[in-house]
Amino acid sequence: MPVVVPAVAVVRAAVQISAGAVTRRRQVTLKPVKFAPFLVIIFVCLVLLTACQRDQEYSANLFVFGTIVEIKLWGASQEDAERAFSELQQVFQGMHRDWHAWEPGRLVQINKCFEQGISATADPNIIEMIQRSQVIEEKSGGRFNPAIGALVRLWGFHTSDYPIVGPPPTQEQIDEILAHKPSSRDIEVDGMNLITDNPAVQLDFGGIAKGYAVDLTIRHLRDMGITNAIVNAGGDLRAIGNHGDRPWRVAVRKPGGGNIGSIQVMGDEAIFTSGNYERFREDQTERYPHILDPVTGWPAKDIASVTIITDEGLPADAAATALVVAGLQGWAEVATALELEQVAVVDESGTVYMTPQMKQRIQFLEEADHVLVEVGR
Ligand code: AMP
Ligand code: MG
Repeated sequence: MPVVVPAVAVVRAAVQISAGAVTRRRQVTLKPVKFAPFLVIIFVCLVLLTACQRDQEYSANLFVFGTIVEIKLWGASQEDAERAFSELQQVFQGMHRDWHAWEPGRLVQINKCFEQGISATADPNIIEMIQRSQVIEEKSGGRFNPAIGALVRLWGFHTSDYPIVGPPPTQEQIDEILAHKPSSRDIEVDGMNLITDNPAVQLDFGGIAKGYAVDLTIRHLRDMGITNAIVNAGGDLRAIGNHGDRPWRVAVRKPGGGNIGSIQVMGDEAIFTSGNYERFREDQTERYPHILDPVTGWPAKDIASVTIITDEGLPADAAATALVVAGLQGWAEVATALELEQVAVVDESGTVYMTPQMKQRIQFLEEADHVLVEVGR
């Protein structure tokens, strides 16, 4: 899997393009001097344009966990933008190394310790992911369970090369793992140490890492004093502040490609989508998507996608995965347990099930068959 190195060039290029735009505007506005009657108007224009120059957008594409993360900043100085992008580059490199489920690194070492029943040390970010996962696993009735790494590996989903071609694992192989009932709640956290007496516990943060990475990115930007930003990991995103005098506007992905509509992001919000259409295994007869039901050990199928809006990336990411597992019959109940309000679910035929709160947020591109579903009651 490519690592972050090439992104340095992307960062620099993006910043230079924005800075160039500022220079060009200055040259244009200084020209008209001799038309005295228009001097006042020109002066006003100059002031406005100078103000715009400070409100410049800076953007960079960084790379983590096989995903391009687009970061846009508004109202930051060029110097701060460059510093933010290069610091985040390092942060992402650390996440990639520490959280990867199958490339050699911290998490792989922790999983080896679990297998051998010995204690492992972890950094505060991994500990936070485990502790928050334990709560979400419990509330979601086990639909979200990041301890099923052995099952994810068995299905061949520890890869970046999709689609995977070939038959599914045998029921016997699946049952062998399920017999141990791996759960994130089998992990005991004692300070910086982790231990479990369940050798089948194998952490896989695939369902939560993007959300947490986006949160840490926003935290980092805020610590630098940046108040207007959007961090977009392939349609999964979190935004703060505005894009100048308008809100950030983002597309809502459609299962199978394209968008169903758009959402104006209000203040500090995260929007995450999980689906069964991008990463899967297939053989001659069937498709097996990458989100697994931890109870049956088989892929969750009847929901094409779930989109969730909350105020943080981690819970949105985990909840989207959990609702896909809960399926068309169970998603509303799990959404209630997770205290979600803004949820849209698309089934295989394209029908959209959504909460009234979500309906108010999406501007659909075209008329979609939809059903309103109340949650939280
Ligand atoms: P997402 O695209 O956020 O729904 O995450 C899917 C990824 O999470 C998969 O590729 C697996 O790495 C992992 N995963 C699959 N099933 C589950 C599950 N039931 N609970 C937690 N993580 C899962
Ligand atoms: Mg997820």
